[in-house]
Amino acid sequence: MTTTALPAYDDAVARYEPVIGLETHVELGTATKMFCGCRTEFGAEPNTQVCPVCLGLPGALPVANRAAIEATIRIGLALNCDIASWCRMARKNYFYPDMPKNFQTSQYDEPLCVEGYVDVEVDGKEYRIGIERVHLEEDTGKSLHVGGATGRIHGATESLVDYNRAGIPLVEIVTKPVPGIGALAPEVAKAYVAELRDIIRSLGVSDVRMEQGSLRCDVNTSLNKPGEEWGTRTETKNVNSLRSVERAVRSEIIRQSGLLDDGVRIFQETRHFQETTGDTRPGRSKETATDYRYFPEPDLVPIAPDAAWVAELKAALPERPSVKRARLAEQWGISATDMQSVANAGAVELIEETIAAGASPAGARKWWMGELARRANETGVELSAVGATPAQVAALQKLVDEGKLNDKLARQVLEGVVAGEGDPAAVMSARGLGVVSDTGALTAAVDEAIAANPDIAAKVRDGKVAAAGALVGAVMKTTRGQADAKTVRELILERLGAA
Ligand SMILES: [Zn+2]
Repeated sequence: MTTTALPAYDDAVARYEPVIGLETHVELGTATKMFCGCRTEFGAEPNTQVCPVCLGLPGALPVANRAAIEATIRIGLALNCDIASWCRMARKNYFYPDMPKNFQTSQYDEPLCVEGYVDVEVDGKEYRIGIERVHLEEDTGKSLHVGGATGRIHGATESLVDYNRAGIPLVEIVTKPVPGIGALAPEVAKAYVAELRDIIRSLGVSDVRMEQGSLRCDVNTSLNKPGEEWGTRTETKNVNSLRSVERAVRSEIIRQSGLLDDGVRIFQETRHFQETTGDTRPGRSKETATDYRYFPEPDLVPIAPDAAWVAELKAALPERPSVKRARLAEQWGISATDMQSVANAGAVELIEETIAAGASPAGARKWWMGELARRANETGVELSAVGATPAQVAALQKLVDEGKLNDKLARQVLEGVVAGEGDPAAVMSARGLGVVSDTGALTAAVDEAIAANPDIAAKVRDGKVAAAGALVGAVMKTTRGQADAKTVRELILERLGAA
């Protein structure tokens, strides 16, 4: 262990060239598991979605899930891959308590999809990320370590296993090494995962939620001196958000450059990303393919997708997210940069649906990217789970457009909607939040404000109409923001003979 201070990021990328690679696991949203009929609902009571096949009991035989194969082919096609006309599943042998079969049914040298690419944009420049392979496998169960301080096995008094997740179809997407991106490596990695997430979400084959683990990312990073061979890579696991992808690459570049500066060799190893500190810690030394003793799965027939079926799936692919973003940016009258923020916030579909429910593009974007995005950030949930629906946001904006709510009141109504108090109109009447524009009801407040501020009233009477603003403010204060400001102003001017 060296004690010298870590180099600054800018110094590190000035001396070394990073090469990154990403392995992403996507849990498919099929109704049943990969090789059995067990349900796949997230959050079910532990060990209630299991059967002899996914528990690996003797004599149980797997049958492949056609919907999972179809979803994997569609992902491959959307990533511009070639689809194998014939391939097999393979056994990846290792013992782990959360894997009751003691092997994982995966693919090895015969992946279903190969040789694709994804284009991503960073700082206005396009980068092509090569896709080496997309293959199909099954997920493991989950271990839960209790009694320790950290939830890790170290210090735990007991460990529990939940096999509900064991056997859920998992697609692994592996990029080719990405060289030549220099200091932008962390941003390119993040942009790739974001684009991949959007593409897969557009296919409707997974909910791709990083915080629930349905999209999980391992990031490989190596450094080399300019003109020299690529260095030894490390693999960082546990990267559970887009922001963490960026931080993990950055911290690994800094850490490795510090070691290389000191003449220390980099070992190929698995490291774990630490959300709290933003750096990586060593895990186990990396197994190589030979450790797994792969062999073709004898209990399953080969997968041989018919060319006509693949062509049909290709023809039916949805609009590419980047193309859709460009089209919507033009329709909504916003810049590419603003559209990128909308996409990064996961708000594209939400705004689209809000507009479809009757709101203007500007009105829809204002609520989702303002108040609701702030709330989602504060509470750490996805925007889509913030508690308001596109229909409710459209109804809220309609109340504003009709003058029944002003901005301030609308924010309070939205608070009620998010808290589950009902639709905007219901919250408005239950909380008594409507704008008061009835002149009869406002006259008393106006007279009171004039009587309390004789100097200002005199100025307005003398024709200094701008001074009326202070009186409007006084009325808004006594009516707790519920008065219609325009009506109040008209009333004041009328009362003071300045209209
Ligand atoms: Zn099962």
